[in-house]
Amino acid sequence: MAKNEHEGRLEQIAVTNRMPTADRGQNDALATQLQHSTYRPPEGFDAVPPPIHRASTVLFPDTGAMRSREWRERTGYTYGLHGTPTTFTLERRLADIEGARHCVLCPSGLAAIALVNLALLQQGDSVLVPANGYGPGVELAERMLARFGIQACRYDPLDPGSVVALATPSTRLLWLEAPGSVTMEMPDLRALVGQARTLGLVTAIDNTWSAGIALKPFELGIDISMQALTKYQSGGADVLMGAVLTRDASLYARLSDAHMWTGQGVGGDDAGLVLRGLHSLALRYAAQDAAGRRIAQWLMSRPEVGRVFHPALEGSPGHAFWARDCVGAAGLLGFTFRGDVAPADVDAFVDALRLFGIGYSWGGPTSLAVPYDVGAMRGRTWRDAPTLVRLAIGLEDVDDLIADLAQAFTRAHRSFDAPRV
Ligand SMILES: *Cc1c(COP(=O)(O)O)cnc(C)c1O
Repeated sequence: MAKNEHEGRLEQIAVTNRMPTADRGQNDALATQLQHSTYRPPEGFDAVPPPIHRASTVLFPDTGAMRSREWRERTGYTYGLHGTPTTFTLERRLADIEGARHCVLCPSGLAAIALVNLALLQQGDSVLVPANGYGPGVELAERMLARFGIQACRYDPLDPGSVVALATPSTRLLWLEAPGSVTMEMPDLRALVGQARTLGLVTAIDNTWSAGIALKPFELGIDISMQALTKYQSGGADVLMGAVLTRDASLYARLSDAHMWTGQGVGGDDAGLVLRGLHSLALRYAAQDAAGRRIAQWLMSRPEVGRVFHPALEGSPGHAFWARDCVGAAGLLGFTFRGDVAPADVDAFVDALRLFGIGYSWGGPTSLAVPYDVGAMRGRTWRDAPTLVRLAIGLEDVDDLIADLAQAFTRAHRSFDAPRV
């Protein structure tokens, strides 16, 4: 295209996009002009990703529109905090993945846990949390909710009877998590939901592990699903976000009120990153699942390894419930060492890893390893194997990851060469 012709085209586009100028004073000062852009999205620009909208203020054409628009029902735009086309699109897609009707986005997974508690509980209520639940969520219940007169009790997720034993007339909410954080036990969700029904409790599950793919909470009769989108949905280790989903209109009303009152909006840029992650979610989840299972099997064959915890592995706690209720697994597993291995030796193994980063979270592109002091976290039942290494499998070649684990066992060999069998 000749230079002149090209410039002509650009001018034409600029003219087409110019908004009516009748109500824009020619004599507006620069400071005024700078705020009132003539930009309009180009007609006929039909890109694959939805546009990313950043907004605090949303303008109304007149006061009548301002009075009539309702943020609660997601039928109109009122204020950036209450949603933009970008966040509404993400909410819709997440709801479709899980078969929910309603979804609200929170600035992190932990914020989503907090939202459910704040929306559903009040002074004098009590809440049941699984003893192997996501640590900060359990702490929130036990330490912060207590200040508002809400009592939290830990139940044993592998014993549905413990829910009945701990429930009182003031118990309102039963938190579920599948599998348990770090120790990966898969509970009998159907039995737990059954107990909750009998007792009249609302059920909420931390469904982060399944990414809404491997486990479908609403098909099991669970009322609320909460997820940390920080993990698989984002997939890039570059966003913090959470979601709360439900099919129930009255629960949604309470959740969306609490969401608004606590100001839990998310920005368009972050929502756009998660939307981009969703395109490859199923592929990444399947690949990380396959790699996780291969590594779990390989670890079982190692003389240094005590037990391997992965719900798809026969012998892992709750494996039968995983087989009954799930259609896949996250690339997440834990293992203990055989014999008397000091926590410092476990740290030496983790430090010897080359491809596994040392860091929290999972679901991202790179594999991660974290030593957990489960003896202190879970108490009595873990006294024999006080330290567990949690591996989160990334998108590297699985043979390279296995070679890395092998060389770390060898390099940290001195610690493991005299296992007490
Ligand atoms: C990571 C995680 C959370 C918290 O998510 P953040 O976005 O990091 O706050 C909650 N539950 C589970 C099971 C998680 O793995």
